[in-house]
Amino acid sequence: MNRETISKLLERHGVAPTPQRLDIAELLFTRPQHLSAEQVLSTLRASRARVSKATIYNTLNLFCERGLLRTVEVDPARIYYDSTGEPHHHFYNVDTGELTDIPLEAVELAVRTDLPPGTHQEGIDVVVRVRGDSLPISPHDLRRRAEQGNR
Ligand SMILES: [Zn+2]
Repeated sequence: MNRETISKLLERHGVAPTPQRLDIAELLFTRPQHLSAEQVLSTLRASRARVSKATIYNTLNLFCERGLLRTVEVDPARIYYDSTGEPHHHFYNVDTGELTDIPLEAVELAVRTDLPPGTHQEGIDVVVRVRGDSLPISPHDLRRRAEQGNR
């Protein structure tokens, strides 16, 4: 995604594309990933951008409000910002702190009770907690495994 595409993406979501917001968006939206605010800060500072911690927090919150990002809260001490817009689930490695996407169709769920009166379902987030050193695996491979499991 180039800077112009990112700029248009921000505008479509009602976010004015300031240079600092573009720096942050460029980092987040070039590929699907999960980053904490601290990781965004250290990556931007390492690259060149002069951006304050407050700007990063404000921008991440704004992106969430406008539906560009969502948070994954797996650990009270750490919030991850997820740049994948479509619904999906996660593996969370308790040892390494790493989040990996699980495609929606790879999890079967049945909620066998009514929703509380007057509410509607907004979404279901599944976090599968794992332990141990994991090898990197792509969402494509996970999807293929899920398909094989269904046969
Ligand atoms: Zn994710």
